[in-house]
Amino acid sequence: MLKLNDPSLFKQKAYIDGRWCAADSGRTINVANPATGALLGTVPEMGAAETSRAIAAANAAWKGWREKLAKERSAILRKWYDLILANADDLAAIMTAEQGKPLAEAKGEIAYAASFIEWFAEEGKRIYGDTITTPGHGRRIMVTKEPIGVCAAITPWNFPAAMITRKAGPALAAGCTMIVKPAELTPFSALALAELAERAGVPPGVLSVVTGNAPAIGGEMTSNPLVRKLSFTGSTAIGKLLMRQSADTVKKLSLELGGNAPFIVFDDADLDAAVEGAMASKYRNSGQTCVCANRFYVQDKVYGAFSEKLVAAVQKLQVGDGAAPGTSQGPLIDERAVQKIEAHIDDAITQGGRVLTGGQRHALGHSFFEPTVIADVTQQMKVAREETFGPLAPLFRFQHDDDVVAMANDTEFGLASYFYSRDIGRIWRIAEQLEYGMVGINTGIISNEVAPFGGIKQSGLGREGSKYGMDDYLTVKYWCLSGM
Ligand code: ADP
Repeated sequence: MLKLNDPSLFKQKAYIDGRWCAADSGRTINVANPATGALLGTVPEMGAAETSRAIAAANAAWKGWREKLAKERSAILRKWYDLILANADDLAAIMTAEQGKPLAEAKGEIAYAASFIEWFAEEGKRIYGDTITTPGHGRRIMVTKEPIGVCAAITPWNFPAAMITRKAGPALAAGCTMIVKPAELTPFSALALAELAERAGVPPGVLSVVTGNAPAIGGEMTSNPLVRKLSFTGSTAIGKLLMRQSADTVKKLSLELGGNAPFIVFDDADLDAAVEGAMASKYRNSGQTCVCANRFYVQDKVYGAFSEKLVAAVQKLQVGDGAAPGTSQGPLIDERAVQKIEAHIDDAITQGGRVLTGGQRHALGHSFFEPTVIADVTQQMKVAREETFGPLAPLFRFQHDDDVVAMANDTEFGLASYFYSRDIGRIWRIAEQLEYGMVGINTGIISNEVAPFGGIKQSGLGREGSKYGMDDYLTVKYWCLSGM
C-alpha cells in the first residue's frame, strides 16, 4: 500500500461540483503500478451522464468565477500552488506509483506542474485589451479580452500532473471553469490536485475531475454546446477524432499531439554537451514524452565519437522501480508500449540497423525495457516515421546541412526539434529552416512555464505556457461606440 504523509490525498472518487462521487452505475476501473503490476486502487467508471452534470455545474459556476477580480482568482491559485509544493513528496509518490517514473523525476514534474499555476496566477492580472484609432468621426473602437467559458481538458498519462496544470492554470486565471478527464492509467495525480484545489478555495464547479470511459466522456465533452473549448494532449489519432467531434459545436481547440523530434549533431558541436542533451531529451521518462528526441542525425565526421560517448552514457542508466533509490529509468507505461519499441527495433534490424546497446525486454520483467541505441538507421525505417515513445535512440548519418534539414522536416509532425552547433551562422540558418514549433539549440530541455510550448503541422494547435498560453482561454470582444 502507498505510504503518504497525508493519506487523504489518495482519492478513489471523482470530483464533480465540489463533491467526491462514485459512478452512477457504481462501477469502477482498476489502476495498477506499472513497476509491479500490483493493484493501486480504483476510480469511478463514469460516462456521459456524469460528464453532463459536471459541465452543467461548470456553467453554473462560471458567472461567479469570472466576476471575481483577477486578483482574487490569483490569490486562490497562488494558494493552490503553495499547497502543491507543500505536498510535493506525496504527489510525487502517487505519481511514481501510478506512472512508473523515478521519484526524482516525479518530484521534478510536481515542481514543473506547480510552476504553471504560479505563472498564470500572476499572468491573470495582466490581461490587456486595445483601443484602436477610429476610422470615422463620432466612433470609438475598443477591444477587450474575456474568458471563453466552460472548458474541457483531456490529458495523457506521461505527465499526470503537469498536463493538467498547463491547462487549468490559464483557464482558471482567465476566469474560465474546467472539467478534466485524466488518463485512465494515471487518475490519482489528477484527483490529488483537485483535493488541493478545493483546499485552496477553488469554488465548487470551477474545477471538476471526471474519471472513466474515455469515448463516453469525450463524446459528451465534444458534443455539449455549453463547452466552449477543448484542450487535449495525447495521440494524434485521438486528437483528430476529437477535432472532428467538436466540429458540430465549433469549439475552440488546443491540441498537443504527437511529435517526431529530430536531434541534430553537427560536426562543430561540443560532443559532451550534445550527449548530455541527448540523454535528457531521449531517456527522460523512459523516452515517453512528446518532445523526446526520436531521430538522431549525426554528421559523418563526429558519428563514431558521438555514438561511443552516447552508448557509454546509456549503459550507466539504472533501470528499476521508480520508487527504489538510484533508479534513473522506470518501466514503460504498459505492455502495448513495450510492443511498439520492439516493433521499431525489429524493423530497424531487418533493414540493416545495428544494435549498439540494449534492444531487449529488461530482465526485471513487466514493462521494463533496456535503454537502447541503434546505429545505421535510415529514413525508410519505422523509427524514422513514427514516434517510438520509448528508450530507443536511432542514429542516422548525414553529410551536408541541406540534407539533414530535408530529412528532419520530412515528417507530418512539427513539435520539438534540437540541434548542437557552435557556429552562429549555422545556428541561425538551421533554426529558421526547421519546420517545428520549438527548437532547442545546444540544449535537450526546452519546456518551462514562461515559454510557449506547442507544435505546427499535425502536432497540434495552440500554445501552453507563457503569455501565449493565456490567449488560448480568452476571446476578443470588439466594441464599436457610436452616436457620440
Ligand atoms: P496514448 O496512446 O498515449 O494513451 P491517447 O490519445 O489514447 O494517448 O490518450 C490520451 C487521452 O485521451 C487519455 O486521457 C485517454 O483516456 C483519452 N482518450 C482516448 N480515447 C479517447 C476518445 N475516444 N475520446 C476521448 N478521449 C479519449
